Amino acid sequence: MGFPLIPQGVFRSIYHIDKRELARQGIKLLLADLDNTLACYGQREPDRQLYHWVQDLKEHGIQVFILSNSRKPDRVSTFAGALGVPFRGRAYKPFRRGFLAALEQMGCRAEEALMVGDQIFTDIWGANRLGIRAYLVEPLQLAGNPGRYLRYAVETPFRELGRKRGGR
Ligand SMILES: [Mg+2]
Repeated sequence: MGFPLIPQGVFRSIYHIDKRELARQGIKLLLADLDNTLACYGQREPDRQLYHWVQDLKEHGIQVFILSNSRKPDRVSTFAGALGVPFRGRAYKPFRRGFLAALEQMGCRAEEALMVGDQIFTDIWGANRLGIRAYLVEPLQLAGNPGRYLRYAVETPFRELGRKRGGR
């Protein structure tokens, strides 16, 4: 997998990822971060575009599973329930157990899974250290929390290296 902090691709949003290409590569499970990847912090309901994205992935033979570090009660279950996808909150990315539980629940091997998230040190690192490929997306919203800007700055070299590997 190479250096585990460098994503295999960097995309402007989840909607810029080519689903047909994923299917061609044998991906069957898309592990998706929730906050700032699928939805803004505090957004309780999925929008129509996201709903259609999930349906379209299904038609390509790819299941979506939300793997979130959110510790807010009901945050992940409410959102995932509305979207109709399985989930795990308090996943403690980058630790292994959340990833492994998701793979086991979905009956997939690491090589069949792809992690998509907005953070290097949780989403990308956690996936890559288990041999799961990982795409980085630009965070939906940095405003509202100064810590997010700082983290984004720290992540910049890894994001730039990932960009050279692919994405759009
Ligand atoms: Mg996130």
